[in-house]
Amino acid sequence: MTQNNEQQNCYDIAVIGGGINGVGIANDAVGRGLSVFLCEKDDLASHTSSASSKLIHGGLRYLEHKEFRLVREALAEREVLLSKAPHIIRPMRFIMPHQPHLRPAWLIRTGLFFYDHLGKREKLAGSNLVQFVPETSPLKDEITRGFEYSDCAVDDSRLVILNAMQAREQGAQIVTQTRCISAQRENGVWTVQLENEHGQYQIQAKVLVNAAGPWVAKFIKQDLQLKSQYGIRLIQGSHIIVPKIYEGDKAFIMQNDDQRIVFAIPYLNQYTMIGTTDREYTGDPNQVEISQDEIDYLLDVSNDHFKVQLKQEDIISTFSGVRPLCDDESDNPAAITRDYTLSLSQDHENEAPLLSVFGGKLTTYRKLAESALDQIRKFFPELGKSWTEKALLPGAENLDSVESLIVEIENKIKGIDAETAQRWAHAFGTRVWKFLGHATSIHELGQDFGHGLYAQEVDYLVDQEWAMNSLDILKRRTKLYLKFDENAVQALDEYLVSLHERRLQKDVA
Ligand SMILES: Cc1cc2nc3c(=O)[nH]c(=O)nc-3n(C[C@H](O)[C@H](O)[C@H](O)COP(=O)(O)OP(=O)(O)OC[C@H]3O[C@@H](n4cnc5c(N)ncnc54)[C@H](O)[C@@H]3O)c2cc1C
Repeated sequence: MTQNNEQQNCYDIAVIGGGINGVGIANDAVGRGLSVFLCEKDDLASHTSSASSKLIHGGLRYLEHKEFRLVREALAEREVLLSKAPHIIRPMRFIMPHQPHLRPAWLIRTGLFFYDHLGKREKLAGSNLVQFVPETSPLKDEITRGFEYSDCAVDDSRLVILNAMQAREQGAQIVTQTRCISAQRENGVWTVQLENEHGQYQIQAKVLVNAAGPWVAKFIKQDLQLKSQYGIRLIQGSHIIVPKIYEGDKAFIMQNDDQRIVFAIPYLNQYTMIGTTDREYTGDPNQVEISQDEIDYLLDVSNDHFKVQLKQEDIISTFSGVRPLCDDESDNPAAITRDYTLSLSQDHENEAPLLSVFGGKLTTYRKLAESALDQIRKFFPELGKSWTEKALLPGAENLDSVESLIVEIENKIKGIDAETAQRWAHAFGTRVWKFLGHATSIHELGQDFGHGLYAQEVDYLVDQEWAMNSLDILKRRTKLYLKFDENAVQALDEYLVSLHERRLQKDVA
């Protein structure tokens, strides 16, 4: 296996794309002894992988489309991922209100029976019937019964970052804000052209992995000047965030008249996240944003079910992403397969291989990575065994429970508020001590940016988690963006500029 070194600069694999699929493959590969390079044109998780419904789920509705392979794999992954990263993933109960004019109760009961039994389930509770009491139920009085089942909620962008950190800790080279602008096959290896704010450079790799998400087909056609084996359908999905419309930590899954489903999910203690839509998207994936139709649709579905009636003015924030789905020529965007397809292209034995990832879900990223490694095994006879199933992600090491970590933080850091201790424990797990160091009070944590963000955390995010600007920190590392006003963002930006300058001066010296 090639030991990458600076003179030779030839990696075993170069991965294009720092979404969940790219970092998942990079992490798995480096842990099996390959030398790995990954480039991301923006920030890690800045596209689809931070715009999801944030669920680790089997996908109850995919049963209707007979996606049994996908559902079985995804159901089993819930428990695997829960064990790997209990700080960023937590079990969640889902309530499905039942109304007689929708799918019949027997069909739902059958679906839930399969859901309970198709995949291995040890930690998550099974499904049951529920009766709603009008006095306490947040649902409209005419909704009197339903079903309840288990899935998990995840901090999607942190799942990406933790995989990237683990990959780097095992030796992977991961660069952000660096675009792959082209790549050519030369003498059995890929020469990969990269561009960042400082200019262009190149690296070489034996295998090129195209995990560019919504850009997967464009990358093959435009940047590699090759033909794509599969087509891609971009399906937009949007969410709205509103002040919480019900108490408690359960989510609701609402069946709409059009047979689509929409979730209402408790989000960051104070909010409810409502989504998603499914509509064909033909624009630039960098520019995707919610449309008025989608806003109306989500408000209508919520208002049809909940006593609290929402208006457009109640919306605090929205986010949209595009699912890069493998084109199966389905007429209905909601019915296009959520399964993944890996395409290996190599016309003759001496040609450097290209592996492209089409489709997939956050939930199945680890299995997708294992399949990717199986596909390229023939080029690396000494490839190590699969290892990710039992390996903890950063922050899960020595973690007894998130609850006990919260108490530990509260006991150690004088003046800390409960919400910040909770946020730190969930976001960082036991890695929180890396930036809390020997501090014993909040006054030792440097500049206070408000809402529990201090300079020591910011420095850690810049040094250890590839954060460059306030959006990286507020949206994808901490989710504090819903609380920060313009002035607070500006103060953070100014601090980051001075931090980068100080680091630059230190490097020059
Ligand atoms: C609305 C919505 C809800 C969803 N909900 C769920 C859910 O609840 N649970 C679940 O399991 N899944 C869910 N999904 C699916 C899941 O989010 C996606 O399958 C997954 O995030 C795709 O990851 P990816 O790595 O393929 O793509 P991305 O996350 O988009 O990553 C691809 C990356 O490649 C980079 N890139 C592209 N071209 C280049 C280049 N030339 N050079 C360098 N970098 C490049 C991009 O900048 C991008 O960051 C949802 C998706 C959507 C849209």
